[in-house]
Amino acid sequence: MTQTHILGYPRIGAQRELKNAQEAYWRGDITQAELLKVGAEIRRANWRAQCDAGLDLVTVGDFAWYDQVLNHTLMFGAVPARFNQGAADNKLDQYFRLARGRAPSGEPVAASAMTKWFDTNYHYLVPEFAADQAFELDAEWLLDEVREARGQGHSVKPVVIGPLSYLWLGRTRSGVRGDLLELLPKLLPCYEQLLRQLAAAGVDWVQIDEPILGLDLPAQWRDAFAPAFRKLAAVAPTRLLLATYFSSLRENLALAFGLPVAGVHIDCVRAPEELPAAVEALGAQQVLSLGVLNGRNVWRGDLGRWQRELQPLAEKLGQHLWLSASCSLLHTPVDLDSETGLPPEQVQKLAYARQKLDELQQLQLLLKGAGDTVTAPLEQTAGSGSVAAELADSWRPQRYAERANLQRQRLQLPLLPTTTIGSFPQTDLLRQTRRRFRSGEISRQDYCDHLRAEIAEAIRRQEILGLDVLVHGEAERNDMVEYFGEQLDGFVHTGNGWVQSYGSRCVKPPIIFGDISRPAPMTVEWSTYAQGLTKKPVKGMLTGPVTILNWSFPREDISRRESCLQIAKALRQEVLDLEAAGIGIIQIDEPALREGVPLRESEHRDYFDWAVACFRYTCSEVQPETQIHTHMCYSNFNAIMDAIVALDADVITIESARSDLRLLEVFAGDASLSGRGGYPNEIGPGIYDIHSPNVPERAELVARLEKMAEVVTVERLWVNPDCGLKTRSWAEVGSSLLNMVEAARAVRAALA
Ligand code: GLN
Ligand code: ZN
Repeated sequence: MTQTHILGYPRIGAQRELKNAQEAYWRGDITQAELLKVGAEIRRANWRAQCDAGLDLVTVGDFAWYDQVLNHTLMFGAVPARFNQGAADNKLDQYFRLARGRAPSGEPVAASAMTKWFDTNYHYLVPEFAADQAFELDAEWLLDEVREARGQGHSVKPVVIGPLSYLWLGRTRSGVRGDLLELLPKLLPCYEQLLRQLAAAGVDWVQIDEPILGLDLPAQWRDAFAPAFRKLAAVAPTRLLLATYFSSLRENLALAFGLPVAGVHIDCVRAPEELPAAVEALGAQQVLSLGVLNGRNVWRGDLGRWQRELQPLAEKLGQHLWLSASCSLLHTPVDLDSETGLPPEQVQKLAYARQKLDELQQLQLLLKGAGDTVTAPLEQTAGSGSVAAELADSWRPQRYAERANLQRQRLQLPLLPTTTIGSFPQTDLLRQTRRRFRSGEISRQDYCDHLRAEIAEAIRRQEILGLDVLVHGEAERNDMVEYFGEQLDGFVHTGNGWVQSYGSRCVKPPIIFGDISRPAPMTVEWSTYAQGLTKKPVKGMLTGPVTILNWSFPREDISRRESCLQIAKALRQEVLDLEAAGIGIIQIDEPALREGVPLRESEHRDYFDWAVACFRYTCSEVQPETQIHTHMCYSNFNAIMDAIVALDADVITIESARSDLRLLEVFAGDASLSGRGGYPNEIGPGIYDIHSPNVPERAELVARLEKMAEVVTVERLWVNPDCGLKTRSWAEVGSSLLNMVEAARAVRAALA
């Protein structure tokens, strides 16, 4: 009979218990012992759920107090020096210090860089390696969890990130990928030792994740797999399940199956076409694990289809066929049973993580010839073929240079204009007021009055600070996608569909259930209210079509591009309404443009063609005097620079504070970077990191700004933080922005 397992389970808890406990611990409201207890309870519930659903193995090691990559960084002793100077402290506190940017003394230091986990909206903490990096294994936490799960009566399968993927995800000072590979000989002994320790703890199977096998790998990296895995395989008696996901294996398929591993997992949702080749390549004794349920989406799986397709294989492989979800269920909400916000006719189409466990069991039964046959879960609707034609001409008729002149005349901004990214602190009072409105405790009128007061306060503070381009502060939004999704037809909002984004941050992506349209203006009232309070320009603030799509659970019955165009059409109406209401600057955020990029380069062109055209489509009909901004918050733009340029926004604000300004060189245009010309329009490279609670010093900001001015011509340079401020307190924001405005003034004066 086939076996069932998963690659990982959400660790936030069905009611976001982990988030609440982490934050309480950071505030000093609960003790570490209390925090540890919450984690243990979540793990217990997760293993219980897997066991109850009849999974043959429960997964251990997928829990993390902040991030699974950070788990490995601590496990291998790869803690950057700045987090080690000073007195040694408790391991968990050290772990949090790496994530949140503190030296042992409590002094603020730069937090570990954070970046997106492949093409997901999950952020991991980037390992930072020194040139002479040494590794030393301390796997106590993993061994403890193995003991814990076995103590609860489970058959366990620990999961670790494989050595090649772990190194690939890291950075060295040089920024050269090849230098990472040079660390492999030093790292491998840790893995060997780890496997020995796991074997000694009674572990039979170890899942070793090498998702980079789904990427276009340089030859040296591909070549490094076989020798590395030969070393690991020599550590008897653990059996290795090599897990790949998110992408097709293609030229790496033979490589993956040829490694000395006892089993291979492939993602049959992203690459169903590779199943025959995988079966062909499978060794006589190898296990084939198939990710047939979508670990990245909330729709019920098509069990009938898989029953038909897998029947012969199940008979042939028996125990050697494992059924699973495509990737870790980290990317899906936890449990539909705690979902209160949806009507039954919608609920019946969905499966969250816990329901996917049941689906695995169902499929296992179906393949055994038991269990009821199932109908297709999601009815298909016909897609229209006119998308490409509609997107063909989405450029603004005037070129940037021409628009910039008109905008300069209209806006009359100083050199190095200061602005922010959009949101201001979401205070406890604001959240509480929103909760009270949602629960019906206060009227819409009262809620809107409160929002207006928040907006007025934000405008007042910005005027006092002396910012040049103001924002209304986004008090009315708790989430930049949900807010629009709630007002657009075609979206459905869950009550409890939370997914971890990073650390204690969770997001609740809406589900695209049908065709999208805009029944009424969404932001115009707030923007015009704010603009009425000040003579300074207030930016209108929208979330772009690609981001709305990428941060939602998409339909599986029409293409992403078609859904994206539907959203773009709705946003275009909003943009025109804002313009007609007198809003002269409109920002259309696209922080999720990059994460939608297919992992394989051969598919980039197609994605960018429609994604970028959809963005332009939202603003192609505005007047040349209307200034269009966009914002993105991640580093590593190199690969997508052409697309960013093609967005043709008048101003782009980007993250750069966390990436040491290195990426600014890409924007400035550097001949050494494959002859790219850089970003031709205006740029606001974030000059401080809003993810850290540290208030940047004025002198530090002046220095950074001067450095930026060396790279980007001052006429094109804007001054702003690197992202929205909603997660910060007003105290932090006030001091930080004051320093920022003063720094801009100082540099302006020096330039004059
Ligand atoms: N305008 C949004 C904000 O300031 C942008 C958020 C983001 O980039 N993720 O909150
Ligand atoms: Zn941002």
